[in-house]
Amino acid sequence: MPKEITYKGVPASPGISIGKAYIYTRSIFEIDIQILNEGDVEKELLEFANAIELSKKELNKIRALSYEKVGENNSLIFDAQIDILNDKFFFNNVNLRIQNEKRTASYVFDDEITKLGHLLVNSKDEYLKDRFNDLKDIRNRVFRNLKKEKLVSKVEENSIIIGHELSPADTILFSKRKVQGYASDKGGLTSHAAIISRALRVPAVVGMKDISKKINSGDLIIIDGLTGLIILNPSDETLLTYKKKLEELKEYEKKLKEILYLPSETSDNKLIELSANIEFDEEIDFIVNTGHCGIGLYRTEHLFLEAGDFPSEERQIEEYTHIANVTYPNTVTIRTYDIGGDKLLPRSEKEDNPFLGWRGIRICLDRVDIFKEQLSALLRSSKEKNIKIMFPMISSVSEVIRAKEILNEVKIDLESKEINFDRNIQIGIMIEVPSAYFLADELAKEVDFFSIGTNDLIQYLLAVDRGNEYISNLFLEFHPAVIRALKKITDSAHRNNIKISVCGEMASNPLATAVLVGMGIDELSVSPSIFPEIKQIIRKINYCEAKGLCDEILKFSNEKEIKSLVTEYFNNKVAC
Ligand code: PEP
Ligand code: MG
Repeated sequence: MPKEITYKGVPASPGISIGKAYIYTRSIFEIDIQILNEGDVEKELLEFANAIELSKKELNKIRALSYEKVGENNSLIFDAQIDILNDKFFFNNVNLRIQNEKRTASYVFDDEITKLGHLLVNSKDEYLKDRFNDLKDIRNRVFRNLKKEKLVSKVEENSIIIGHELSPADTILFSKRKVQGYASDKGGLTSHAAIISRALRVPAVVGMKDISKKINSGDLIIIDGLTGLIILNPSDETLLTYKKKLEELKEYEKKLKEILYLPSETSDNKLIELSANIEFDEEIDFIVNTGHCGIGLYRTEHLFLEAGDFPSEERQIEEYTHIANVTYPNTVTIRTYDIGGDKLLPRSEKEDNPFLGWRGIRICLDRVDIFKEQLSALLRSSKEKNIKIMFPMISSVSEVIRAKEILNEVKIDLESKEINFDRNIQIGIMIEVPSAYFLADELAKEVDFFSIGTNDLIQYLLAVDRGNEYISNLFLEFHPAVIRALKKITDSAHRNNIKISVCGEMASNPLATAVLVGMGIDELSVSPSIFPEIKQIIRKINYCEAKGLCDEILKFSNEKEIKSLVTEYFNNKVAC
């Protein structure tokens, strides 16, 4: 019997799954640099031709599977890869060089593909730039076939994906395959891959350092996204315990569903608006079937990710109108593009400090044409008057004024064309940069609402990279500086008679609910997977007591004291 081994990481998305591991790797193959003997050239050409044929066959199979599971649009990437393998000019050139220079197929192929890669990276066409990743995939596939290594990348349905690093795009792609869980060596609690896992209600554990080297595809594992564990080769006893836990979890979820229709108010009748964070189409089901709530944060980056470029105004109108309709009569707060940071950028040059770089509103104010298209699509979709617009990454008052000016220009244009839209559409900003905290009073005078993005606010306030697993222990929601900042921002909003919500992951932390409610936050926008639980917690909290708890923790100067009092409150008043 193989030995049971438990690995610990950072719990990133709740839930438990028992299943087979699938190791998602990008293998690294060595290039054969030796010069060929005259007699070996023919053999090399033949092996190269075979490797190309095999690669095409594999890709055709993968494309067929992809069509079936995710449809035509999502499978175009494979067409592009097959097209490259069918490029006669490119392959004749490789063949010629093998003959003339007597270099190995892997050497010449790598050299030619690298040249092509440089061309793509330097291209002005954004679509072509994105094809760079396709090239890397092709290179790996052909190399593997040259080495006659077997294809191990077949994604089995219902597997638990384990990788060194999972990008948002990887996570989206795998989500289409009924994935039962995600675990990665890298990544922090608020990395976008982690957020996506929560959004899809799939358990995830991140920051596992080298788990991708310790587990093999096909191994039986348990992923426990509640405690951040991966258990390899679980014993019969462990399996039994976890099967029982799974049953309990299902029972618990059933009970929570029952409270969905009860009001979101504290035991002393203070209403706390509870809304959902939505990032993908898959999650819209939650609004339609379960939540019947508003959307406090609708991230629009996925439109950019899916299209591989900025989507057309028509595509956006389709999306925003749909989301406004399914949410109606509740409201949906749609955030303008927050690309950059750990999300894709509309250019391929790497930035040294992407989180301090060209991101969010900065991109929109530089690319006014793109920004205007998005604002126009939002306004055109606002006829039912249930859309609010929110700007991310605001760090100065002038940015808000400029964004509003641009919005006004779009409004004037639509008016001149006699297009119907919500003339009083509400405008808000995310408070997620320390300068916005200092300017909260002035910013509040410019907008209709604030929403605190704790993922970024904590990252920038504490100088802790939100995606770096080595310092995830320093990403502290209950750090005194964080608690004090949240309170001051809330007070600034209320002093200026505007509403304030929290839409960062802290709103989805059951331990933080009493703190945020006690502070006076009007709305919590949470991950759909935790929505019923947070509702239940709100209903157990007494607002006056929570206010008292807040007053106490605001006096503390270290995180441990705060956390211990908050935990005590939770254990005595909420978890009982
Ligand atoms: C945040 O920063 O808290 C937030 C909600 O935005 P994102 O996670 O998309 O950066
Ligand atoms: Mg943010």
